[in-house]
Amino acid sequence: MMEWGLLLKLKAGEFVISIILFGAPGSGKGTQASLLSKKYGIPHISTGNLFSYEISNNTPLGIKIKDSMAKGQLISDDIVVGILENELKKLKTKNFILDGFPRTQQQAISLKTLTTKYNLSIDYVLFLKISDSAVMKRITNRRVCSSCKSSWHIEYAKPKKEGICDLCQSSLEQRKDDTSEVVKNRLEIYYKSVNTLKDFYKEEGVLHAINAEDSADQVFKNINEILNIDENRA
Ligand SMILES: [Zn+2]
Repeated sequence: MMEWGLLLKLKAGEFVISIILFGAPGSGKGTQASLLSKKYGIPHISTGNLFSYEISNNTPLGIKIKDSMAKGQLISDDIVVGILENELKKLKTKNFILDGFPRTQQQAISLKTLTTKYNLSIDYVLFLKISDSAVMKRITNRRVCSSCKSSWHIEYAKPKKEGICDLCQSSLEQRKDDTSEVVKNRLEIYYKSVNTLKDFYKEEGVLHAINAEDSADQVFKNINEILNIDENRA
């Protein structure tokens, strides 16, 4: 019942909600962002998807991004902030979900400048908590179909025949950046900025921590509870 309240208020434009999902690689940010976006009809801005778009269209920006990724570096702030500003400008509502940004305190400060400029706000920062060992297990056990690109997982989304895609019978493979070496690297980069980011949003009074080691359904339930509790208080 409570959830309908939020849904109706959002549809009627009576309630504005903007959410940032953040957490380690493999914590399920993208999954939760899509679920939220679908349920509440809130635009989902994923910097990862925006990068992929630039890369697959071979734009000048895409070439720069590809270069940074190949070197295992974070994409430079001016590139990410530029891409993000374009998306925020296009928004037809004040509701949005961000995933993949900000990754550093500097980016959080840039985001604050942007939200002020476009008269937007950041209402919820959902921190998806997960241990390193769980991240390793999730990411290194991921498999992708070499042909249709569908996603599989050795434990959570097993194909019927080991190493073979159920959908098109092609072989499954591991993505190059899903190996334990690369994951360790990505975690290291993540830990460099996670605490300052958490502090930043704690001070803004919008940080909520959620256990991300539960199933995706359970995590989604817990997120909805947080959103609805605050909506009823308001
Ligand atoms: Zn396939």
